[in-house]
Amino acid sequence: MNQSALVVFSGGQDSTTCLFWAMKKFDRVEAITFNYNQRHKAEIDCAIKITKGFDIPHMVVDMSLLNQLAPNALTRNDIEIKAGEGGQLPNTFVDGRNLLFLSFAAVVAKQKGMKHIVTGVCETDFSGYPDCRDVFIKSLNVTLNLAMDYPFVIDTPLMWIDKADTWKLADQLGRLEYVQQNTLTCYNGIIGTGCGECPACKLRSAGLKKYLNKKEATQ
Ligand code: ZN
Repeated sequence: MNQSALVVFSGGQDSTTCLFWAMKKFDRVEAITFNYNQRHKAEIDCAIKITKGFDIPHMVVDMSLLNQLAPNALTRNDIEIKAGEGGQLPNTFVDGRNLLFLSFAAVVAKQKGMKHIVTGVCETDFSGYPDCRDVFIKSLNVTLNLAMDYPFVIDTPLMWIDKADTWKLADQLGRLEYVQQNTLTCYNGIIGTGCGECPACKLRSAGLKKYLNKKEATQ
């Protein structure tokens, strides 16, 4: 089997860094994006633009049923985004989102004869989403292999690194500026540096600042 990978891709900083990581590591890379009526259609457009730019075959899958099952702040304009307080999950959490996304990705990957599934989930990223944890990914990996009798490998290059080191990885892959200018993480739908105010922008810019300061100090 040639080394091929399907990247779960949102067009944000994390999954774009994962896409570049996969492009370096595997002979054949494709991407899959889940459309679940994210607040901003800009996210999907961004994902399409990035994959087109690098000639990556890209599939956009309709997952609007997710919003039907669990309306939340990421998909509904009438719900304000709030950070989690006192150990509570932020209200951007969608129960089972990664479970569903990775399971659908696995179905597609097997059809395409691809073994690796790459996802930008991260345990260090404080949000505490249970289906971003390493133990869940390992458990799901076993489940998927059993469910489809197929040797999937779920790769999580960002699992143990923080936002600063995610920028470092992008830099090592020679794509720091690209990620900075062309990805969308902002909850207000502003590409690149974003609105600067929302929790996603704050996390992203604090990580970049930390990485650039560290880099400067070692030069
Ligand atoms: Zn923002």
